[in-house]
Amino acid sequence: MTLAIVAAMREELAAVLALMPAETRSTVAGREFFRGRLHGQEVVLVLSRIGKVAAAATAVTLIERFDASAIVFTGVAGGLGPGVQVGDVVVADAFLQHDLDASPLFPRHEVPLYGKSRFATDAALTARLAVAAGAALPQARLHRGLIVSGDRFVATTAEARALQAELPDALAVEMEGAAIAQVCHDYGLPYAAVRTISDRADDAAHGDFLRFVQEVASRHSAAIVAHLLA
Ligand code: SAH
Repeated sequence: MTLAIVAAMREELAAVLALMPAETRSTVAGREFFRGRLHGQEVVLVLSRIGKVAAAATAVTLIERFDASAIVFTGVAGGLGPGVQVGDVVVADAFLQHDLDASPLFPRHEVPLYGKSRFATDAALTARLAVAAGAALPQARLHRGLIVSGDRFVATTAEARALQAELPDALAVEMEGAAIAQVCHDYGLPYAAVRTISDRADDAAHGDFLRFVQEVASRHSAAIVAHLLA
């Protein structure tokens, strides 16, 4: 059983990497994979880099080359739902690609030839991750539900409002999660994801994001991962 722990950016995983003396470090497809043990469990840590293609390539490599038996993503996202504020934590029950549009051949957001737009995360792993997030960050408000992904850093109030109007139950927006959800669906691999909210995907998002990733993102990830593996 090898649990893969993925983040997009170094800032999101630095503290977890620091916890684990890597037994094996290898580079595949330009990414460094750190294999080792955390709390007695076999893990592989990797930075996917940003965006859906980078995330999908990372997920496939984890499964094909590193024998990952489950994938957990930890990182930051923009809050979309009205009650989802900076510092809150969102655990994903499902993912959707908000920028996918093969209409009129397929309904808006539907992944062609899959017959659906939403990819559920693994119920058991997600439940464990939610418990870990709650225990790690007892002060933070915890949400569970839909996270949407796309190849855009959403950083205008107008775009955030448009996304909310189009997908009223979307709690947060980021750039990787739905890609990994689709790969894990294809391979039948359990997947769960947690995101702390770094910004509100609005006109202030860029500054809020930079402050948050520098100051808190990595600590949050480390605390959640520690509780998940404890
Ligand atoms: N490094 C660049 C941009 C990072 S992109 C910069 O400094 O501006 C943002 C990363 O955080 C992505 O990995 C994405 O998954 C997540 N994210 C956080 N807030 C987001 C938002 N408002 N819109 C899209 N992705 C967001």
